[in-house]
Amino acid sequence: MQILENEPMCKHTSFKVGGPVRYFAKAETVEDLKAAMTLAREKGLPYFILGNGTNLLVSDKGYDGVVITFAGDFSTIEDLGNGAFKVGAAVPLGRFARTTLKQGFAGIHKLAGIPGTLGGAIYMNAGAYGQEIGTCCTMVTALDESGNVLEIPVKDCSFGYRHSIFQKNKAIILSAIFQLPVASAEGKTVADLEAELAECMAKRKASQPLNMPNAGSTFKRLESGAADTPTQIAPGYYIEQAGLKGHRIGGAEVSTLHANFIVNAGGATACDIKALSEHVQEKVAEKFGIQLKREIILLGKF
Ligand SMILES: Cc1cc2nc3c(=O)[nH]c(=O)nc-3n(C[C@H](O)[C@H](O)[C@H](O)COP(=O)(O)OP(=O)(O)OC[C@H]3O[C@@H](n4cnc5c(N)ncnc54)[C@H](O)[C@@H]3O)c2cc1C
Repeated sequence: MQILENEPMCKHTSFKVGGPVRYFAKAETVEDLKAAMTLAREKGLPYFILGNGTNLLVSDKGYDGVVITFAGDFSTIEDLGNGAFKVGAAVPLGRFARTTLKQGFAGIHKLAGIPGTLGGAIYMNAGAYGQEIGTCCTMVTALDESGNVLEIPVKDCSFGYRHSIFQKNKAIILSAIFQLPVASAEGKTVADLEAELAECMAKRKASQPLNMPNAGSTFKRLESGAADTPTQIAPGYYIEQAGLKGHRIGGAEVSTLHANFIVNAGGATACDIKALSEHVQEKVAEKFGIQLKREIILLGKF
C-alpha cells in the first residue's frame, strides 16, 4: 500500500485548501485498510476516512493523523441482478448513477451531479432534487474500530436529512447494496431519465458556482413548521437577506451566484473560509434569530 508522508490536503479537497497530513494511505483492500488503522494505533495517532474531499474543510495546519482513502477493490460496481447493485465506497456517485440510469433504473439518477464518492454519500446521506442515497439502499457493509466487518441493514442506518448512523458509530463504510426501481414500472424510458438528469444538471450549472473551488452547501437546510409536516427552508435566503452575498474574508467569498456556497475566490486559506462561515452564522443569528448549522465537515486544528 502506498503511504505518503506530509501530503498536502489542498491536493485532495474541492476547496483546494488544507495543510499537510502526517500519513496519507491509499487502501486498495480491506487488509490495506486494517494495516493503515494499525499504523495509526502504533503511532498513537487518530485516523480519518477521506472520500473525494468535496464536503471537507481541512485546517491550514493540516492533520496530525492518518488520512485513509480508497481505491482498488473499493472501486467496483457489482450487478446482482433485478435492479440490485453492490457498490464500493470509492465509486464516484456520478458513475454509479449514470451506469444504472443507462440500464433503465431510477431512484438515484438525479444524484449524478454530486461530486463525491459512494462512501461519502452514505456518510452524509447525500441528496438532491428530491432523491437521497439512503432511500434505495438496503444494506451497508462497514468495518468497526476494532476491525470487525458489520452488515448493517438500512433500518439501522438512521438515514435522515444529511444524517446517517456512520456520523455517530464511526464505522468505515466499505460498500453498500442498493435495490433500484425499474423506470419502466412508472412508464419511463431511459431517455426520460436522461432528460430528468439533464434538467437537474442545467439547474446546477445555472445556480451553483461550479467554476470556483467550493464544497457545496455550507449550511444545512432549516426545518420549520409542525413536527409531522416540517418544511425545509434554504439558508441561502437568509444569507442573501442579511446582505452577505459577495462578502469576503481574505480569499474566501460568499458566492454571488448562490449565497449558501462559500467559494475560494483565489488564495483563500482554510482560516478565511472558517472565519467567513462563522461571520455568516453571526449575522444571520443577529438579524433573524436563526442558528445556521454547518454541513461542511472540519478536519484538523483551527
Ligand atoms: C459543487 C458541489 C455540489 C454539491 N452538491 C451536493 C448536493 O447536491 N447534495 C449533497 O448532498 N451534497 C452535495 N455536495 C457535497 C458533497 O459532494 C457530498 O456531501 C458528498 O456526499 C461528499 O462525498 P465525498 O466522497 O467527497 O466525502 P468527503 O468530503 O471526502 O467526506 C465527507 C465525510 O464523509 C466521511 N466519509 C467519506 N467516505 C467514508 C467512508 N467510506 N466511510 C466512512 N466515512 C466516510 C468523511 O470522513 C467525512 O466525514 C456538493 C459539493 C460540491 C463541491
